[in-house]
Amino acid sequence: MSRQVSSNPVWERTAPGADTYPALEGKGRAEVVVIGGGFCGLSAALHLAEAGRTVVLLDSHEPGWGASGRNGGHVIPGLKLDPDRLSKHYGVKTGELMSDATARAPDLVFDIIERHSIQCSPRRTGWIQLAAGPNGLRLIEDRVRQMQTRSIDVEILDRNAVIESTGAEGYVGGLIDRRGGNINPLAYARGLARALTSHEATIYGRSRALSIKQIKGKWVVETESGQMTSTRLVLCTNAYTDNCWPRLAKTIVPFVTGAVATEPLPQSLRESILPGGQAAADNCRLLSWFGLDPEGRLIFGGRTGTWSESTNSSDYRDQIRRMHGAFPGLKNIAVEHQWCGKVALTADHLPHAHKLASNLYTGLGFNGMGVAMSTLMGKFLAQLVNEDSEGAVFPLSPLKTLPLHGYLVPVVKTVVLWKKFLDRFYP
Ligand SMILES: Cc1cc2nc3c(=O)[nH]c(=O)nc-3n(C[C@H](O)[C@H](O)[C@H](O)COP(=O)(O)OP(=O)(O)OC[C@H]3O[C@@H](n4cnc5c(N)ncnc54)[C@H](O)[C@@H]3O)c2cc1C
Repeated sequence: MSRQVSSNPVWERTAPGADTYPALEGKGRAEVVVIGGGFCGLSAALHLAEAGRTVVLLDSHEPGWGASGRNGGHVIPGLKLDPDRLSKHYGVKTGELMSDATARAPDLVFDIIERHSIQCSPRRTGWIQLAAGPNGLRLIEDRVRQMQTRSIDVEILDRNAVIESTGAEGYVGGLIDRRGGNINPLAYARGLARALTSHEATIYGRSRALSIKQIKGKWVVETESGQMTSTRLVLCTNAYTDNCWPRLAKTIVPFVTGAVATEPLPQSLRESILPGGQAAADNCRLLSWFGLDPEGRLIFGGRTGTWSESTNSSDYRDQIRRMHGAFPGLKNIAVEHQWCGKVALTADHLPHAHKLASNLYTGLGFNGMGVAMSTLMGKFLAQLVNEDSEGAVFPLSPLKTLPLHGYLVPVVKTVVLWKKFLDRFYP
């Protein structure tokens, strides 16, 4: 008899239960309204509430419903672009500032977790990046060189060290970055929400912002059953950005990615996979990542076969095949969960922060590396609202819509095919 596979993230098994947040009814006021209850919005709201602002957070579903409750939980330092490339992109001063601040983003996550006693199985055991071939290895060696020049605690892993530390086959080398770690992301989102309400902030679930208007110098947000008025507004909707602010959705590519989780592994297998408690990802153009949950399930993720969020089993076959390629010992182990979510890709692979209008800010485009980065962006957006320029991280840029946004599916399909080809023949 075939087993029922859940389409909910595996994190629900080990996360504390969700609090319920009512829908907004009628009219209300706050100093700041935050739209979006993922890490970015929750972090922004929490930092604002901690600074003494009256804050209301609106989410179209509930805190953690978006990518924040569905990701791999890898707390990754830095950005897609290594420090040298960041300096080329922004100039040395801004580039180095950004490298330094984003490298310390995991400190912020683990500090928030500790400060608010968030029960989310945090492990600061490091993050492993793997190379599937000589091109990937060259990138890793270059990355390690750049980090070590900046006195960062990273180390190259040779093929044997990769097998010893991950148990995965098919990789030729890697690195371990000891600043990273892993968490149960759904539990982190729920914990952030709880910390927020303990600071007298209010969260409304099932409250999609349908429109945003400026009336007599105030921001007015309409939902289906209510209306919130505030002096300041922060928009944190990332890959789920809809039309509530013109053109914003067209600045990113909402890309579907997913994961499968096995049943708890037998002890013999568990001991050989990630024995040091790290999480790992390769640096292929279409990357795969994996980690263990607190009950010993292997979680393996990457691109799914779909262009919209899907619960269809056939869309996860390729992912299961890749998992069995890396871990042949799992072929007889059942898959219990398969789920997906959307990441927001940008053309320059960097997160973007925008001042959309007076007292209206947004940050988005975490390019699948948002656990630490969206938390940091939330803090940065709170600083903008508070007009606190100390340690500013992300340069504010004008909105730039992507060309051919109306033809996303065929364009992205072509790019994916091209990347698949490169990964296969030039790993
Ligand atoms: C499968 C998967 C695996 C990933 N793995 C990792 C990983 O291991 N490490 C890592 O660093 N990153 C990972 N990421 C990326 C990371 O999850 C995201 O970058 C991060 O969660 C983004 O947080 P956010 O708050 O910006 O957006 P989200 O968490 O997506 O939150 C956006 C919120 O906005 C709300 N919203 C949208 N429109 C409206 C509206 N009009 N009104 C009200 N609310 C609205 C949505 O309901 C949603 O809750 C992964 C992503 C996915 C999908």
